[in-house]
Amino acid sequence: MADQHDIFLAKSEVKANDLEHKRKVAFNIQKYNDAVVRGKKQFANLDLARQRAKNVKWKAIENLDSYLELFEKNFTARGGKVIWAETAEDAQQAVLQICRERNTTQVVKAKSMVTEEIHLNDYLSKHNIESVETDLGEYIQQLDGEPPYHIVTPAMHKSKEDVARVFHEKLGTEPHLSPSEITMVARQKLRRKYITAQVGVTGGNFLLADIGAVCVTENEGNGRLSTTLPQVNIAILGIEKVLPSINDLPLFWPLLATFGTGQQVTVYNSIFTGPRRQGETDGPEEMYVILLDNGRTNLLRREVRESMYCIRCGSCLNACPVYKNIGGHAYGATYSGPIGAVITPHLAGMNEFKHLSYASSLCGNCTEVCPVKINIHEMLLENRKIAVEDNLNGFKEHAVWAMWERAMLSRRLLNIAGPGLKGNVVNKMFRDSWVAHRSEIHFAPRSFNKLWKERKDR
Ligand code: SF4
Repeated sequence: MADQHDIFLAKSEVKANDLEHKRKVAFNIQKYNDAVVRGKKQFANLDLARQRAKNVKWKAIENLDSYLELFEKNFTARGGKVIWAETAEDAQQAVLQICRERNTTQVVKAKSMVTEEIHLNDYLSKHNIESVETDLGEYIQQLDGEPPYHIVTPAMHKSKEDVARVFHEKLGTEPHLSPSEITMVARQKLRRKYITAQVGVTGGNFLLADIGAVCVTENEGNGRLSTTLPQVNIAILGIEKVLPSINDLPLFWPLLATFGTGQQVTVYNSIFTGPRRQGETDGPEEMYVILLDNGRTNLLRREVRESMYCIRCGSCLNACPVYKNIGGHAYGATYSGPIGAVITPHLAGMNEFKHLSYASSLCGNCTEVCPVKINIHEMLLENRKIAVEDNLNGFKEHAVWAMWERAMLSRRLLNIAGPGLKGNVVNKMFRDSWVAHRSEIHFAPRSFNKLWKERKDR
C-alpha cells in the first residue's frame, strides 16, 4: 500500500499540472485578498493588535490546564456538561452515546473542522445516524463526497458552475442554477432537518474561561439554528481554543473576521453559556462541550508549542505558494497548508506526515500574514529537526547527508573528482527527487576554488 508521502507526491503532481484548478483557486484567493485589504482598515494599529493577540494566546497556552479547569467549573455551574476526550475515538463514542440516549437517527452539524478531524460523519453513519452538514460550503462538499478543501472556505476549489452541477447530479435540480437559486435549494432542504434532528453538533471558535462559554462565529445563521432548535447541543473543541476572558473577544473577533474572510466582523457571533434555563424560550435542553486533545498535548511538549495559538483563520493557506499550486486535498490531512504541515505530524503521526514539513519554500509568507504572529515557517524547520532527532528519515538520507558533510569539510575530497564525475554522482543520488522534475545538475568546468587559485597565481 502506498504511504502518505507517495500519495502526497502523486496528488500534488496532478494538481500542480491542472491549470483549471489553479485558475479557480487563484480567482477565489484574489477575491479574498481584495476583501482583506478592506477589512484591515478597521485597525488603527494592526501590528499592535496582532502582537496583543499573540500575547493573549501565549498566556492561555502557558496556563492551559488552569484555564480549561476554570472553563469547566463555570460552564458546569450553569448546567452544562463537559467531557474530556483524549482521542478521536473517545470523542466519537461520547457523541454516539448522547445520540443513543436521545434515540436519534439524525444529527445536524454546523461547520467544524474538529469534527472532520475525528471523522464524525463516517463514524455516525456506521452506526445508522445521519449527520447533515448545514454550512453551505460543507453541504456542497458532503453532497459531492469530498472532504473540505480549506479550513474556512470548504468548497473554494469549485466554481459556481461546478456547484450547480453537483446540485443537479445529487439533488436533481436544473443544471444551471445561479448562486442565489442554489442557496434557496440548500435552505429548503436543510430547514426541515433542523426541526427533525434531536441533536445539533457544532465546533467553536473560542472557549471563554472566565465565564465558561463557547463562542461560535459564522456567516449563514446555520450555527444558531443547529445549536438552538435541537433538544441537545454538543460543541466539540480542541483544547487550544481557550481564551482567558470574554474581554479578549473585542480583539479576537475582528482579527478572525478580517484574516478569515476580509470582513470587519462576522455576521453571527454567538456566545453559549449552557443549556436553556427556566423561563427562557430558546436553546437546547442539554448542552455538552467535548474538550478534545487528540495529539494536541504533543504540540505542547515540543518546540512547536506556538502552533497552538492558531485561530484557524486560513490566512496562511491563502498566502502559501505551495497550497495555491497543489490545493487542500493533496495534503491528505484535515488541516492543510502551512499550519496543517506544522500540526498534522504531531496530531496524526510524525512518521506518516513528516514530509508535509518539507513541502515548503520557506518563503515566510505564512508567518507574515498570521494574525497571531506564529512563526510558522520556523515551526516547519523545527519539525524537520524533530524528524531527524527521532531518526525517522531513513538510512539513505542519513548516509547522503553524512557523505555531503564529509565532502564539504574537506577541500581535498571536493577537488578529487572532475565536474563530469561530480555531476554523475549527484544526479544519480537525486534521480527520484530533484532530477525527476528538473533538468540535470551540471557542475562548472572549473570550480570556484580553481578559479580563485588561478587568479591568485596570476
Ligand atoms: S497559523 Fe495563523 S494564519 Fe494560519 S490559520 Fe492559524 S491563525 Fe491563521
